[in-house]
Amino acid sequence: MNTQLASAKHDSDLTTPSAPSLQSAQPPLLCEDGNALIRLDRIHKVYQMGDVEVHALRGVSLEIHRGEFVAIMGPSGSGKSTMMNIIGCLDHPTKGHYFLEGSDVSRVDKAGLADIRNKSIGFVFQSFNLVPRTSALENIELPLIYAGIPAGGRMRRARAALGEVGLADREHSMPNQLSGGQQQRVALARALVNNPSLILADEPTGSLDTRTSVEVMEIFQRLNRNRNLTVIVVTHEPDIAHYANRIIQFRDGRIRRDFSVENRKDAGEVLMELPRETEDEEEWGGPAGSKEAGTKE
Ligand code: ADP
Ligand code: MG
Repeated sequence: MNTQLASAKHDSDLTTPSAPSLQSAQPPLLCEDGNALIRLDRIHKVYQMGDVEVHALRGVSLEIHRGEFVAIMGPSGSGKSTMMNIIGCLDHPTKGHYFLEGSDVSRVDKAGLADIRNKSIGFVFQSFNLVPRTSALENIELPLIYAGIPAGGRMRRARAALGEVGLADREHSMPNQLSGGQQQRVALARALVNNPSLILADEPTGSLDTRTSVEVMEIFQRLNRNRNLTVIVVTHEPDIAHYANRIIQFRDGRIRRDFSVENRKDAGEVLMELPRETEDEEEWGGPAGSKEAGTKE
């Protein structure tokens, strides 16, 4: 979606959106597959803890293509979040190269990384990370404020995103007036509102019950299918991983397995089999049926 990303740092060459201008500026660092949305090439990450070095990633190479839905699994401490931070341009690798949309971002400075994050990447976390005492709609508008979108456009886009996660009727609700599942849906709308190419979700269902988890996965699957949005989800739960079409397992800072999901689960179908939500949730949010309201683009 953001094919200008590669060119953005080289304003002399904005005319060839899909051809990374880095190639013309430098010797070709690329690329077994120039079409990969993400390519990690022998990525290492070493954290310095006083005198101790923690080797969190030990030479991770992988490619992820646009439109994939990837689940990252592996024991605690195996490097999943470290890798998500690098893919999300929140941190630099110690060694190796990271190509995003064909452009080497491993050495982009902090301001450049912030720019890439704002334009191309949406984040979802286990703990929702909504701003308290700030309405659902205003939470969703925040990334648009950072992106310098004028107020009218912000409101329109935030409302559309809220509709897309089925919460059109909750725009004035504060986070503490929403159930956990609803808060996570607001966080998802906030991740979507800038129209990113990539959604990164680190344990997005870690704090949610079964039905609510499936509701969140249904939204991810719908966005992945309808918008060809690339989704990467870290999860401990094999059940959740099977909504993805590819599973990558980490161990000790390395990829142990990387395989396609056979019999991928369809969250929409699973939801129909699950009992409807408890009275508690009815009280909070009304029937889950209302979430079908805003499924269009
Ligand atoms: P996971 O997400 O799979 O649980 P992490 O990527 O968080 O694993 O951590 C991988 C390793 O790196 C662990 O040994 C962890 O303690 C260490 N680590 C992660 N973040 C930091 C940090 N900011 N400073 C020092 N060590 C870290
Ligand atoms: Mg983690």
